[in-house]
Amino acid sequence: MKDTCVFCKIARGEIPAKIVYENSKIIAFLDINPRNEGHTLVIPKAHYQSLLDMPEEILSELLIVAKELCEKMKNKLQAKGFNLVINIGKVAGQEVPHFHLHIIPRYPDDGEVIKFGEIKQKNLEEVYHKLCE
Ligand code: 5GP
Ligand code: ZN
Repeated sequence: MKDTCVFCKIARGEIPAKIVYENSKIIAFLDINPRNEGHTLVIPKAHYQSLLDMPEEILSELLIVAKELCEKMKNKLQAKGFNLVINIGKVAGQEVPHFHLHIIPRYPDDGEVIKFGEIKQKNLEEVYHKLCE
């Protein structure tokens, strides 16, 4: 997987990307299909398929990097808010099976950038029992 994974290739510098942050374990680069100006992906350099495979230590470091990038986007891009998105699994829309956190900067009146579906599950009591009992 590591040989063919597109994000591993970006992490190794084998395919080009607009890198906006890099340290020994984490790299962040502009999404090739930006949903808004500054749309960035933050990834571990090592290959972990999804959030559920991420070691806690690198996960917390990655979130701190994401926070710093948000601050930078506030200052340099005049972003006023952010959606941080993590898709886990194909069924949830994860297309690249290498963990990535989307940072999507938001601007006043920028339209329907992130769309949530219609309301489906109203039986909160039943779900609560399944989850917690
Ligand atoms: P997912 O749907 O897996 O959460 O998001 C994958 C994201 O990776 C998409 O937004 C897509 O545009 C981006 N992406 C896929 N391939 C490349 C690539 O080669 N370079 C860059 N910069 N982004 C990519
Ligand atoms: Zn990978």
